[in-house]
Amino acid sequence: MSDDAVMPTARAARTTATAPTTSTARTPADGGRDRADGGRDPDVVVVGGGMAGLVTAYELTRRGRRVHLLEAAADVGGLVAGAELGGTVVDLGAEAFALRRPAVAALAAELGLAVQQPAAGSWLWAAGYATPVPARSLLGIPADPGAPDVVRALGPAGAARAARDADLGPDVGADAADLATLVAARMGPAVLDRLVAPVAGGIHSADPAALAVDAVAPGLRRALRDRGSLAAAVAALLDAAPPGAPVATVVGGCTACRRPWPPRCAEPAAGSAPARR
Ligand SMILES: Cc1cc2nc3c(=O)[nH]c(=O)nc-3n(C[C@H](O)[C@H](O)[C@H](O)COP(=O)(O)OP(=O)(O)OC[C@H]3O[C@@H](n4cnc5c(N)ncnc54)[C@H](O)[C@@H]3O)c2cc1C
Repeated sequence: MSDDAVMPTARAARTTATAPTTSTARTPADGGRDRADGGRDPDVVVVGGGMAGLVTAYELTRRGRRVHLLEAAADVGGLVAGAELGGTVVDLGAEAFALRRPAVAALAAELGLAVQQPAAGSWLWAAGYATPVPARSLLGIPADPGAPDVVRALGPAGAARAARDADLGPDVGADAADLATLVAARMGPAVLDRLVAPVAGGIHSADPAALAVDAVAPGLRRALRDRGSLAAAVAALLDAAPPGAPVATVVGGCTACRRPWPPRCAEPAAGSAPARR
């Protein structure tokens, strides 16, 4: 899932031809058939009721396909999960979606979900301590290695190494296919380990070494060549982004729509359906 991609699950689940709960998920012992729908075979079987599977099933259903969604766990949502802590429901996995691209916000609107932008910034936990995510950063890559919030996160030595990015030629790291190689080559291990790994890793559930730069930060390598440093490239992309908060979340949390089951999400306004594509 892209950094755009966290979105509430329940409406999507409900709009599949067979609701993807454990009561409709079928095992090989069942012969893979769902008798609850009158015995009609599906056009498509989607395996996995995380975001990817739910969105796939939702889109197929919108196109008139008969979809069965199989989920091995007790509930849909996958890594979009929540729990009650001290009487408050909190997100345990994804808790926000990026606004850099409009797809998720558009889908939330289509599904009738209320969204809001966070009032406070994000913090990260790395190397045994907590620190705010630098305000001017992209996937944890700072736009200014000398900014106080960056120095706080990296320490003076780490920040000094990151600042050497400005002295390297634009070709250093420009051919790096993965995020870890690019960041380490330009800004050193402290930026990679203390900022990029927790931020990018948290968003994409993957090690930066497994993240393709062009997929998670489109335009970053081109900006590096154009601007001459990674920090300047990040600054350029941030400056080109829409104004306002970079992320939004669902009111009540990303799993709010699933409580109670069956979900009680607002129906899309009559006649307002599928206008996204
Ligand atoms: C702590 C944390 C915080 C995150 N924060 C953010 C965030 O703020 N913003 C953001 O954009 N992203 C965030 N992410 C990443 C995001 O949550 C995931 O990228 C996304 O939810 C993955 O969706 P998915 O459908 O690809 O996979 P999953 O969510 O892993 O779903 C896969 C589903 O398939 C099911 N399944 C697997 N095998 C089978 C099988 N054989 N048969 C049937 N079912 C099967 C699983 O049970 C699961 O439900 C975060 C991730 C984590 C872990």
